[in-house]
Amino acid sequence: MTNAASALALVALLATAGIVFGRRALLLTRLVQLGKPSQRFDDVPRRVRNEAVVVLGQRKLFQRLGPGLIHAFIFWGFLVLFPTIVMATIGAVDENASLPWLASQGWFAFLVDLFCLLVLVGVASAFWIRKVQRPERFRGSHKGEADLILLWIAGIVLTLLLWHASRIALGLNEYPAGWSPLANAISNVFGTGSTTEALERVFVWAHLLLVFGFLAYLPHSKHLHIMTAAVNVWFGRTRARGRLEPLDFTVEDESAMRFGSSTIADMTWKQMVDTMSCTECGRCQDVCPAYATGKELSPKLLIMGLRDQLFAEGPNLLADPAGFQPTPLVPNAVSDDVVWDCVTCGACVQECPVAIEHVDHIVDLRRHLVMVEGRFPAEGETMLRDVERSQNPWGKPQVERADWTGGLDVRVLQPGEAPPEVLYWVGCAASFDERARTTARSTAKLLQAAGVDFAILGPRECCTGDPARRMGNEYTYQSYAEQNVATMNEAGVKKIVASCPHCFNTLANEYPDFGGDYEVVHHTELLTQLLREGRLEPVAGTEEITYHDSCYLARHNDVLEAPREIVSRIGKPLEMARSGKRTFCCGAGGAHMWMEERGSQINEARVAEADATGASTLAVACPYCTVMLDDGVRSTGSQLQVVDVATLLVEAVERGEPAG
Ligand code: SF4
Ligand code: SF4
Repeated sequence: MTNAASALALVALLATAGIVFGRRALLLTRLVQLGKPSQRFDDVPRRVRNEAVVVLGQRKLFQRLGPGLIHAFIFWGFLVLFPTIVMATIGAVDENASLPWLASQGWFAFLVDLFCLLVLVGVASAFWIRKVQRPERFRGSHKGEADLILLWIAGIVLTLLLWHASRIALGLNEYPAGWSPLANAISNVFGTGSTTEALERVFVWAHLLLVFGFLAYLPHSKHLHIMTAAVNVWFGRTRARGRLEPLDFTVEDESAMRFGSSTIADMTWKQMVDTMSCTECGRCQDVCPAYATGKELSPKLLIMGLRDQLFAEGPNLLADPAGFQPTPLVPNAVSDDVVWDCVTCGACVQECPVAIEHVDHIVDLRRHLVMVEGRFPAEGETMLRDVERSQNPWGKPQVERADWTGGLDVRVLQPGEAPPEVLYWVGCAASFDERARTTARSTAKLLQAAGVDFAILGPRECCTGDPARRMGNEYTYQSYAEQNVATMNEAGVKKIVASCPHCFNTLANEYPDFGGDYEVVHHTELLTQLLREGRLEPVAGTEEITYHDSCYLARHNDVLEAPREIVSRIGKPLEMARSGKRTFCCGAGGAHMWMEERGSQINEARVAEADATGASTLAVACPYCTVMLDDGVRSTGSQLQVVDVATLLVEAVERGEPAG
């Protein structure tokens, strides 16, 4: 082929690939433009850092070293090999031309050689995992398409290597051949005659066909994430992980008001990009407590289901926005059970390498089901009714809220009184549940022993609204948020200690949206500070203690060290297999404290993990975990004692006090 003919062929190839790619990319862009607003343009420095760490550094993927390395080899390989596409494009027209400067650099030739090898190793290892190990996390993924993509990538790299080798054999390489040992070794199979000249043309054109074919296929395939993942990470959440976006009930135009997600037309643009970014890797599914205990929910299949419906109905919606009526997401994209199985533990979000926010999708689906359709599990209805009528999900009279203080002389802050240094936010569980009340009493005793100026609100403390909110009843949540913020602002509260991680999360991360700006600490943080200041002096015992991280404390709020410091001061700590930010839920979050659990129980699975450590005590720092894990201990016949760290600390402090 002459150079002119080659140039024409190249233009035809680029135009075809460009048109196929461009049409699909345009459709996807228009779909995203249809999405409802989402504020994702703040905190640019943090977004830059996320790109550097999560995308370029592949940090989330390295949470599992083996698969992380495989993905990193392929991803970094694509970055390094990108300029070779330009070189091949130039070389396809004229075999004697190439990219100025870079084509003559030995170090670059070495990098290309190295990453060709690493990508091939990565592809082979990925095949090994998929075909031999066959992990459960790929169940339900598009496996055939993934195989095709892997073969395609291998084809791109192999043709590149062969092209380089044939050029070395023909003496067309501009860099010293010693810099590319792999291509150099392969070049030995080629001669210097016309056959190699012809093969050199075949390799470069095969390479370009594969590259541009890949580009055209990409936006039509599950590997769309190659284009969208970096975008999704950029627009990922920069505010607290445990915070839910509030609904705006003050919008005057009711048609502009969203009560969650009913159809694809209700999704935010970020939620749409979420669905387009899923790699179907199944990392979220692997860590999901609902999936692990045999429930219908798989966070991966949830996102894939939403994506399928978006792609099926999106073009019709674009064609006729006023006339086309999209079908409900529940039960078409996901079933009702899937929506209600979630405990909002956030393990999926923590694990997802492309910043997909599953919990927000699920809560938005719940918001629509609860507030518009009134469709939710019957047990949830009892809880919501109790919250609305009695101001707490236990349905107990508010006048009993401070009954746990009996004999402790705890100050109940009255209207008009000077605020204490620290307000102790007791929470509904520790106020009304017998087992959880022990935590409140222990916390109060320790604060008194350390001389902390504190008080409680007593009957003026209402449910934070967290269970109603996680259940989908945003309206009830906001009423309580406003009421509680008004009470605390009027009382002049500046600092709060909460012993419930759910209250802690709501007070610290969600009440600022309603004008409640306080310094909020968890009781384990305040107690650790008192220990460090020498205001509490425990005497360590000999018992072996394993500490269970609450999802809303560890994963949603990064409180990891404080409870461990307390445990290490009072006994011998033993870590469970899953701990810290990768903890396993107790099963109570997302309003599941009040719902029936189908199938095998999450709390029993967690108790089994605690038992495996050989500890005698299972320490907790959350009243929900106290109740759930204690139930798990009883139903499994475990010998573990479930005790809040505050109670363990009281015992250790009392050990040091003079007898009598
Ligand atoms: S938040 Fe937890 S329970 Fe819900 S989907 Fe994610 S991992 Fe599963
Ligand atoms: S949602 Fe995230 S973790 Fe789950 S399969 Fe998709 S990319 Fe993987």
